[in-house]
Amino acid sequence: MFTLVVPPESPCGCGSGRAFGECCLQNGHIRLSHKNIIPKPPRTGLSLKKCFLSDQNDCGGNMSGEHILSASVLRNISNDKISINGSNFSRTHSIQSDSLKTKCLCKRHNSAFSPIDTEASRLFKTISLIEKILNGSIQSSQSLYFFAGFDIERWLLKALFATYRSRITNINPDNYTLPCYLKYFFDTSFNPPYGLYLPAKFTSDEQFQFKMSTIAEASFGLITKNNLVSGITINLGGIELKLMVAGTPSDLAAFQKTHVFRPKFINFYQGDEVFSIALAWDKGTEQCVWISRYDPTAPIPKDM
Ligand SMILES: [Zn+2]
Ligand SMILES: [Zn+2]
Repeated sequence: MFTLVVPPESPCGCGSGRAFGECCLQNGHIRLSHKNIIPKPPRTGLSLKKCFLSDQNDCGGNMSGEHILSASVLRNISNDKISINGSNFSRTHSIQSDSLKTKCLCKRHNSAFSPIDTEASRLFKTISLIEKILNGSIQSSQSLYFFAGFDIERWLLKALFATYRSRITNINPDNYTLPCYLKYFFDTSFNPPYGLYLPAKFTSDEQFQFKMSTIAEASFGLITKNNLVSGITINLGGIELKLMVAGTPSDLAAFQKTHVFRPKFINFYQGDEVFSIALAWDKGTEQCVWISRYDPTAPIPKDM
């Protein structure tokens, strides 16, 4: 058991650059909102057929040629190579490769997504920063970083659409379908058991341990069930994120034995040093997580 003390004058874990006490800390809680990805009003009333958000009738500009995993996220990858997996299919590309670029959003919708691209980038950057602090290559006094889980899930969902539409693997519109309800999850959070999973090893006392890869590998691929796309897995800088969007309760039950659903904290320990990434999962625009004191030995609440 330990207590993570975060002085109000330390940099805020949301990445704003302001002091914690003058930013997200309010009455001992973090108040953190997820990002808005609705294009700036007024609405255009336009619908570009190829844009996957065409149903919103708010498209603008031409189609945008964006990297499947977003350019800002890729800047964190030290390795030039990324492997892409499909169904009995695996291929390695340079991250510069044009085949990793896709046109599946109009310019207006693509730029509206940039706040969540930035958040995903900040998450991967934070993980690599903490690793550098722990191995002694840099120094930092900041021990807490936090994110809205809904932002990370929507980033994964965007990558799922882009991977599918880009036809970069054999899981594409020719032979697989997407769950019809998928687009609505850009507006409102998935209901459990759908959402973010991290590979984890459960130990006897209800604790779980993340499996971090020590190799700087980068890969992504779609997960399928019969002819349906049921999720996406993205592995960057040693951490693997999975978004599950379909599957029966029994499919997911097996999966849940080796994964943790929507973790609230990802803790990194070394000696008496602790660094923590907190993920806020409450629905609605205002999300709260206790941070001034917590007990990592406590069982994970079932209703995350
Ligand atoms: Zn803040
Ligand atoms: Zn659009």
